[in-house]
Amino acid sequence: MPGTELFGAEERKEIEDVLSTGIMFRYNHDAVRNNFWKAKDFENEVKKINGAKYALAVSNGSAAILAALAASGIGVGDEVICPPFTYIATIEAVLMLGALPVFAEIDETLCLSAEGIKKTITPKTKAVCLVHMCGGNANMDEIMKVVNDNKLILVEDAGQAFAASYKGTYTGLFGKAGAYSFDFFKIATAGEGGIFVTNDEKTYLLADSYCDHGHDHIGNNRGMENHPIIGFNYRISELHAAVGAAQTRKVPQIKAANLKHKQHLQTVLGKINGVSFAKLGDENGDSGTFLNLMMNDTPSAQRVVEELNKAGVGGFNYWYTNMYHFINQWDHIKNMQTASKLAIQTMGAPQDYKNLNIPKSQEVVGRLISFGIRCTWTTDEVNTLATKIADCIVKASQPVNA
Ligand SMILES: *Cc1c(COP(=O)(O)O)cnc(C)c1O
Repeated sequence: MPGTELFGAEERKEIEDVLSTGIMFRYNHDAVRNNFWKAKDFENEVKKINGAKYALAVSNGSAAILAALAASGIGVGDEVICPPFTYIATIEAVLMLGALPVFAEIDETLCLSAEGIKKTITPKTKAVCLVHMCGGNANMDEIMKVVNDNKLILVEDAGQAFAASYKGTYTGLFGKAGAYSFDFFKIATAGEGGIFVTNDEKTYLLADSYCDHGHDHIGNNRGMENHPIIGFNYRISELHAAVGAAQTRKVPQIKAANLKHKQHLQTVLGKINGVSFAKLGDENGDSGTFLNLMMNDTPSAQRVVEELNKAGVGGFNYWYTNMYHFINQWDHIKNMQTASKLAIQTMGAPQDYKNLNIPKSQEVVGRLISFGIRCTWTTDEVNTLATKIADCIVKASQPVNA
């Protein structure tokens, strides 16, 4: 949780600004807000890093995905190709809009593969919701080719990958719209917060209205302007945005520290037999938030995690634990357990979610062991961690004595 490691005077100052005027609403109150516009500041800080033309701060990353899909025109009955390895929010957003998730295979990048996407395209496919997992980046050249060849819309859930890039373009900016999360567990945090991004003005204006009950925010009296579309409330508060702005300014520093630690861990651990690492679409575009070990097979990974747990080292696998990031844990989707009826229950699921044939994804997620990287680690701490992980891997590979 790198951002949270660096809470300090900067965040406090930003919060005090907001409390000094009492204006926690991002719109209006021009005369009494002392020119504090924290949501706008947060958006501008994000744009400074990723170069997006438009950014919209919203209540959380899940809302940013929803807005990205909605503003891209995705709705009832549209098939949206999704990975089976993502935080559940991606799939929820698709379902909330009445669209139908279609699961495709991921590969060693931990993201959808171009091959996987191609195989699941049907005449009803409208979009791909690509997720850049574990701080990395997908194979964008290949994916963009499939997307463009088939005239699909690309939306990116870069919830975990703000500050990751591919060949110089930041994640979130390859398709029609993208989303970042600034929740408590991401590279930078607003407490709760998300950012919607796009380079397309029309898509931005739709998202801007969608996230505030349809208000168009033209002129400076929000509330009395026009309401071009139906929306909902996904606004961010000035308090959260203030923290998000201060944190985003620290991202270059956080990323540099993360990458340094990750490099060091990979150099040490890469020498061990049977250890490799998750791939990146572009090795130079990593955000460094996670060390992603890949063991030879799932049982090996399982044994290593057991040793890691015994030694209290950390490190988690998404396949056989109850972490919420893999389809194996999504029984509520397989059984369509809902609070109220969703469109998919009337229309029928596009795939048999209980019997999906995704051997590659099962294999990749089974072999994966992830470690969150802390930017405040000292060199000594990184060395100690590398030794401990190495010990666990060696122990796990020894035959069990009766
Ligand atoms: C964290 C995350 C989300 C959800 O973001 P929130 O801000 O918690 O709503 C969505 N997708 C991915 C891939 C995430 O990691």
